[in-house]
Amino acid sequence: MIKHLIIGGGIGGVLTAIYLQKRAGVPPRSIRIVDPHPTLLARWHANVEACGMRYLRSSSSHVLDTDFRSLRSFAARSPSFDEGDFTPPYRRPSVRLFRAHCEHIMQETGTPELHIKATAQSLKRNGKGLFILETDNGSLEAENLILSLGPGTQPLRPHWAESAAKVQHIYDPGFDSSLARTQRAAASGHRERSGNSGTQTPHVALVGGGIGAAQHACMLVRRYQATVSIIARHEPAMSIFDFNPCYVGPSCLPAFLSLDDYLQRRRVLEQERYPGTMPPDVYAELQRLRDSGSISWIRGEVSRVEHSHGEHEPKSDHAYTKQRTVYITPPAAGKESQADIRILCDTLRLATGFTPEFRSNPLIQQISTELGAPCEAGGVPIPGSTLEWLSRVFLVGRAAELEVGPPAGNIIGMHNAVKRLCNSISV
Ligand SMILES: Cc1cc2nc3c(=O)[nH]c(=O)nc-3n(C[C@H](O)[C@H](O)[C@H](O)COP(=O)(O)OP(=O)(O)OC[C@H]3O[C@@H](n4cnc5c(N)ncnc54)[C@H](O)[C@@H]3O)c2cc1C
Repeated sequence: MIKHLIIGGGIGGVLTAIYLQKRAGVPPRSIRIVDPHPTLLARWHANVEACGMRYLRSSSSHVLDTDFRSLRSFAARSPSFDEGDFTPPYRRPSVRLFRAHCEHIMQETGTPELHIKATAQSLKRNGKGLFILETDNGSLEAENLILSLGPGTQPLRPHWAESAAKVQHIYDPGFDSSLARTQRAAASGHRERSGNSGTQTPHVALVGGGIGAAQHACMLVRRYQATVSIIARHEPAMSIFDFNPCYVGPSCLPAFLSLDDYLQRRRVLEQERYPGTMPPDVYAELQRLRDSGSISWIRGEVSRVEHSHGEHEPKSDHAYTKQRTVYITPPAAGKESQADIRILCDTLRLATGFTPEFRSNPLIQQISTELGAPCEAGGVPIPGSTLEWLSRVFLVGRAAELEVGPPAGNIIGMHNAVKRLCNSISV
């Protein structure tokens, strides 16, 4: 029997395991983390690599440890890191430093040994009142469960991309950000057309207008000398954080928690989160590359996509590297609708974030419908003030947003959640 079974081995799940050990004094033998990936934090590393992030958006105090000074003192002790691994404001750490620090803390606490490689499928109680978690790798018996399943189940795909095969999302599992194959395909196409040899600059169309799209576009220019057209609904928008930081502490959180109506809390969550924004350094790099002509920003909605050599979708894996024509409907100017813009690209990618739908998470849905865990009308779980959703089932991360507020899905929100949980969980 496992005393504390954590489902999800991302930042939230690993942080929970670290707090349980360091703050609540739970011995490692009483903790296990279920996650399908080969290693813990795999999704985090894949996502930051995919978008080409260089510095975290959050401060160097928001770390994978119970001590907020931990990353800064780790960097000061290590000759591999210097001031170049921090950037203003709030001395945000480089991705390289954050990763090394995560690995250091995980080794120090023996967290990798707690990992059970499996996907949790369903939950029930047995006659002794313990939980039986069915996974694709056998069943597990547990006393307490902590769900830390991440921001959403799927990368968000616009309707037109559902029908157009082979449009990669940068957060698709296994996504390869490299443009090497596209560069070769673009060069051979150029040779065929012109008879000249030599390299050809690949042109990428990237859909999405937030930090993911901006960072990915800048990375493609830096690493592959690509030119990029970003297709977005709005102009680029700058914000240091992707939520209002007053909800981290006593300035705004008590007022949020005093709202008895969950619909009102949902409204606050919508107003006080800033999706589609980017911090000043990313904004500045984007603007510089727009000025130099490497990146263009096109406002509008994709209406359709055609393969340049006919209507049919190519079947091979190399389909990503076939040229396409993307038709974009610009926003209407007054009552006048405008003609579609047409661009030709060597590859088309999505950077449109994740589905914010808890209802689409099969485990959340099963626990809600079969065990009666409460959700509000939008399908968002309603945990109690100790983050207990059902007796001895706790929530960490985005799923706890109705109690933790707008920062729930960010590292600082996960700290706030795990601290509350440690105060109420039995060792
Ligand atoms: C590119 C990017 C950059 C970000 N940068 C920052 C930043 O700088 N600062 C900040 O505070 N926040 C940042 N965030 C937001 C947030 O910190 C991350 O999204 C973070 O990864 C969320 O951690 P998590 O543990 O909630 O989710 P995830 O990292 O998604 O981990 C959830 C894990 O649960 C697993 N899981 C799901 N369902 C099951 C199941 N049924 N059984 C077993 N396992 C399951 C998943 O496979 C996954 O491994 C960023 C997000 C992204 C995408």
